[in-house]
Amino acid sequence: MSKLPHITTSIFTVMSQMANEYKAINLSKGFPNFPVDERLKNFVAKWAKEEVHQYLPMAGFPPLLDKIALLTQKSYNRKVTASTDILVTAGATEGIFATIQALVNKGEEVLILDPSYDCYETPVLLCNAKPIRINLNDDFTPNWEVIERAINSNTRMIIINNPNNPTGKTWTENDFIQLEKIADLHPDLLILSDEVYEYITFENKHLSINQRIKLRDKSVIVSSFGKSFHITGWKIGYLIGPEHLMKEIKKVHQFLVFSVNSIAQYAINDYMDVVQVKELGQFYQQKRDFFRNLLQQTKFELLPCEGSYFQIASYASISSENDLDFTKRLVQEFGVATIPLSPFYADGKQTNCIRFCFAKDENTLQTAVERLLQL
Ligand code: PMP
Ligand code: GLN
Repeated sequence: MSKLPHITTSIFTVMSQMANEYKAINLSKGFPNFPVDERLKNFVAKWAKEEVHQYLPMAGFPPLLDKIALLTQKSYNRKVTASTDILVTAGATEGIFATIQALVNKGEEVLILDPSYDCYETPVLLCNAKPIRINLNDDFTPNWEVIERAINSNTRMIIINNPNNPTGKTWTENDFIQLEKIADLHPDLLILSDEVYEYITFENKHLSINQRIKLRDKSVIVSSFGKSFHITGWKIGYLIGPEHLMKEIKKVHQFLVFSVNSIAQYAINDYMDVVQVKELGQFYQQKRDFFRNLLQQTKFELLPCEGSYFQIASYASISSENDLDFTKRLVQEFGVATIPLSPFYADGKQTNCIRFCFAKDENTLQTAVERLLQL
């Protein structure tokens, strides 16, 4: 009998396969289509020629752990101990899986705020724990009253994602204050904070759990080099958390992958000396503005995009189809692949909204919008 009877192929794979089949422009799955920094490629080439092909230490290449600690200090003024508080993971996905497996017990509840990215629920189910899916408000802000009411003595963890995939929303100071109040009332509640788009914010600077003195000792923060360095295929990221939690997570990581790709860690360690992650927001803000300006000429209505490389748009004035039918028709008839929003909701909520990924070169974005103008 299947352990995960209702888990099916991810919507990102479904829409990308359709994009290939119809030779459509793929603005569905979130990945950059422009070249990776030559300097990073050169570091890979350099290290591939050296004898660095064997296992690295379980928690990560020590100099890389030091660089992550330094970046955390510079970005958020938080001092972390490289040897105890950081774990290099096989992408954020493995970090999230290992965290949940290590910290959530059978029968406990984990709060997930919908629309939510797709990799949170399965690890919860595999712990024989219960995912509690709570919808965000219609403007994609957290509904703190509903969240507070959902917490009981069985609640182990809340998963938050800021900046958010798929909505592009970021958290405000008030959101953190509300979470701090909840954490005060429920001192055993843990926080898993998915911040993979931490360096992709626009008008407002990213607010991180790393900066919340009241929360960070009960939180595990997830980051991804895939997003910060445009290398989604490398599958490498890291976790930051207090030693007592990281000690447990490392036990799972040790037997899930043991350690992460050596050449990637050597190359990233060098690259972190030369790259400026703080320029990433500006880089993507240009793309966001370019894409939004073009899309404004279409019949789509654009929702705000404060962070991440995703733009949400409503097609309510174009069609009354459900979002899956609409996105399939966009591929088949207009040659543009996007992502419907309903698969991000446990209850399949219909919002008449779809997600575009704008981590693309200008030519791709322009050609896509030319096609959408025909709607
Ligand atoms: N969390 C979010 C919110 C994401 O968007 C993604 C990837 N798109 C991940 C986690 C997974 O990141 P990685 O590819 O590093 O596993
Ligand atoms: N994170 C990517 C997105 O949101 C999808 C990656 C995947 O297919 N797992 O589009």
